[in-house]
Amino acid sequence: MNNIPLTIKIIDRLGRIIPRFFWTRYSNLARTQGFDKLYLLLSFDCDTPADADASARIDEWLVNNGIQRSYAVPGTMLETNPDIYKKIHDTGAEFLNHGYLPHTQLMDGVYRSTTFYEQMASVDVVSDVRKGHETVVRVLGIPPAGFRAPHFGMVSQKIKTDVIQPVLRELGEVYSSQSTPYDAIKHGPVWRVNGWPEFPVIGSANAPFSVLDSFTYLENLAVRKVSPRFSQAFRETAESLINWEINGLLNFYVDPSHVVDDPGILETLVFLKEQGIQSLTYTQVLERAPGGGKK
Ligand SMILES: [Zn+2]
Repeated sequence: MNNIPLTIKIIDRLGRIIPRFFWTRYSNLARTQGFDKLYLLLSFDCDTPADADASARIDEWLVNNGIQRSYAVPGTMLETNPDIYKKIHDTGAEFLNHGYLPHTQLMDGVYRSTTFYEQMASVDVVSDVRKGHETVVRVLGIPPAGFRAPHFGMVSQKIKTDVIQPVLRELGEVYSSQSTPYDAIKHGPVWRVNGWPEFPVIGSANAPFSVLDSFTYLENLAVRKVSPRFSQAFRETAESLINWEINGLLNFYVDPSHVVDDPGILETLVFLKEQGIQSLTYTQVLERAPGGGKK
């Protein structure tokens, strides 16, 4: 937390004091972008081998419950478990290019984060983006539609815009989802950077500027399971955004292995479905949501 700028800390605090004010702002932006209601945009980051097995279990449940979803898997992890991800892809999930190199390394029994674009030479970032794209094509037989950088919250917008975006355009990808809740509140559910659609992930109802992801809610780095606070925050967010009649995207992501043993998350997904919240992939948002996020 120490390297977070003071202004971001103050905005985060303000968001916790008057969350509905900021969510209303988000919803108004969503309306101008053509979002007529709230949609679910669920994605999974699969950075460890444990995520492959967990994905297989969760995905089967999602398919049975008619819930759409997207996956961001580094190329190295696709190569480790090609059959699992191929099967998931074949049942209708969307896959993002999530780069090639691994995002975690097992050290002394604990996964440590690795591959930070911010610390790499531009040429190496470009190479990782290309290789990630090629691996999706090779393993799944279809190119990825969009991109998410590893540890995207730590990658500067300059790298995303100046280094990554030109390669994605060249590769034929059409969106990215690699910015934070701060950008969601500032720009709305779809932020067009030089005409390029970017889907910021969202925060929670009570803390609109703090990312609602499973990593933030881990019990600890060795056990790597979410605490009950995660499904509680997810449920509260779902209920509040529905009650407050917020338009836009419940764009949140989890690591499957963090949540696979927590029934609370699946219960909230059922709740959303019962409330008539339609689930979409990123491509489906661009194609089907009224306006597709276009201003
Ligand atoms: Zn990752």
